[in-house]
Amino acid sequence: MTSVRTLGAALTGLILAGCGGSGPDPETGLMALTGATVIDGTGGPAFEDGVVLVRGDELACVGSAADCPVPDGTPRTDLTGHFITPGLVDAHVHFDQTGWLDGRPEALATDVYPYDETIQYLWDDPGRWHRAFLCSGITAVYDVGGAVWTVTDEQATDTDRPDRAHVRAAGPLITHVDYNAPFMVGMLADQPVFLPMQSEADIAEDIAFLQSIGAQAVKVWYLRPDPDDAERLDALLMAAGEAADAAGLPLLVHATDLREAKLALRAGAFMLVHSVGDQPVDQEFLDLLIANDTFYAPTLIVGGNWNEAVIAASEQNVSVIDDPNGCVDAALRDRISNIAAYEDFAGQLSAEDIAQRRADYMEEMDIMQANLLAVYEAGVRIVTSTDSGNPLTLHGAAINPEMEAMQAAGLPASAIIEMSTRAGADAMGMADRFGTLEAGKLADLIVLSSDPRADIANMRDLTHVMRAGFLLEQSDLQLYTAPVE
Ligand SMILES: [Zn+2]
Repeated sequence: MTSVRTLGAALTGLILAGCGGSGPDPETGLMALTGATVIDGTGGPAFEDGVVLVRGDELACVGSAADCPVPDGTPRTDLTGHFITPGLVDAHVHFDQTGWLDGRPEALATDVYPYDETIQYLWDDPGRWHRAFLCSGITAVYDVGGAVWTVTDEQATDTDRPDRAHVRAAGPLITHVDYNAPFMVGMLADQPVFLPMQSEADIAEDIAFLQSIGAQAVKVWYLRPDPDDAERLDALLMAAGEAADAAGLPLLVHATDLREAKLALRAGAFMLVHSVGDQPVDQEFLDLLIANDTFYAPTLIVGGNWNEAVIAASEQNVSVIDDPNGCVDAALRDRISNIAAYEDFAGQLSAEDIAQRRADYMEEMDIMQANLLAVYEAGVRIVTSTDSGNPLTLHGAAINPEMEAMQAAGLPASAIIEMSTRAGADAMGMADRFGTLEAGKLADLIVLSSDPRADIANMRDLTHVMRAGFLLEQSDLQLYTAPVE
C-alpha cells in the first residue's frame, strides 16, 4: 500500500490543528524553536542550545538562549539534539523536465509517452515539483532555462506562498544550435524552449521577448562551435552578454569546455551553470571568475545520471533511485519503473559501450571535481546545483548526492552548507529575504537529526522543514511511502 500526502493537505491540517498545539502565541504572534544547534549560515560560529524565535513568516530572533530570551507563554518546539540550518537552495533546476527519459524534447519512447502530452502534464501542475523541493528541505530554486510558462505561470513562479519554494526563472534559452536538430522538435509552438542566435538582430529580438514575458535572466546555451564558425558565434556570445547587460538581466551560460567557459566570462557571465569538464582549469580562468565575481554551479551528478538512465533502457533494468526522504512521487516512480516502454532501445548499447560510457564519465567527474576544488581554493562563489529534471536527476532528492559529490571533491562540509544556502540566495538576488537565519528574514529553515558539519551526508537526516514560519514534520511532506512488507 502506498500513501500520498500533499503539502496542501498538510498545511490545511496544520492550520486546523494549530501545529499540534504549538502554533504561535495569539497575543505576541511568537513561537520558538529551542535546544538545537543553530547554524545560521552567516559563517559565524553555531549557537549550541540555540533559540529561533519566529513571528508570522519572519525570524524575530536567532541566537543563544541569552541573545533571544523566550517570553513566557510562547509555544516552544523542543529540538534538543537536532541541528538547524537555513532552507536549502538548488541553483540549477528545470520545472519543464520530469527527471526521466520522457521529459526532454529528444525523449525516447515518445510512442508510449508523447512529448507534447508530457509537457502539458508538467505545465498543468508545477506544484508537483514545489512539493518535491519542500519535501527535500529545498526552499528556493533557480530555474535556469525552460518553456515560456516556467516564467509566466504563477503556479510555478509565485514565491509568496508557504507551499511553494522561492523561484527565479530564466525562461527560454538562446542558442546557436541548429533548429532542425532533434532537440528542437516536438515543442508546443507558443511555448518555445529555445530562441535563435544566428545574428545580432536575433539576439535583440530574443531579449526583447524575454523582457516581455518577465524572464529574470538571460540564459545562453553555448556548445563547442564548429571551428569554421567559431569566430562568428563567439562574437555573438559577446553580443548576447552586452544585450543582457543593457537589459539589466544577469547572463547565465552553459559552457562546459574551458575555451567556451572563458569566453562566457569575458561576455560578462553572472553564473556558469555547469562545471568545466573537458580539461583542468587554469589561472586565467580562475582570474576571470574572480574579476567578474561569477557564480560557479558545478552540477556534478547529472551526466552520470543521464548515462545510467540510457543504460537502464538498453539493459531493460529498472533504475534504483536515491530518494532519501520519500520525495519522488508515485507517478514519476511508475514511469521510471515502466522500463518496458523503452523496449525498442533494448540491447542498443553493447557491454563494451556501457563500460566505455561509465569510464568516460568517471574521467570527466575526476576533472570536474579537481576543477571544483581549484575554484573553491581560489575563493570563487560556488552554488550547489543539481540540474534536476534531467533523467534520474530527481527534483528535490538530487540535492543530497550532489552535495556529497562536492564533499568527495575535497570541499569541507561547512563550506558546502554555505554554498547550499546563502550563496544560492545571493545568486538568485534574494539574499535580503532568505539564505541566512537572521532577524527580519523569512523563516525558511530545516531541522536535521545529525550534524551536517561533520558529514554533508547528514543532510539526509531531515526531520522538519519550515517555510515562511510554517513548521512541518518531514514525514508530513513525503510524496511516497515505501510499501509495508
Ligand atoms: Zn540545466
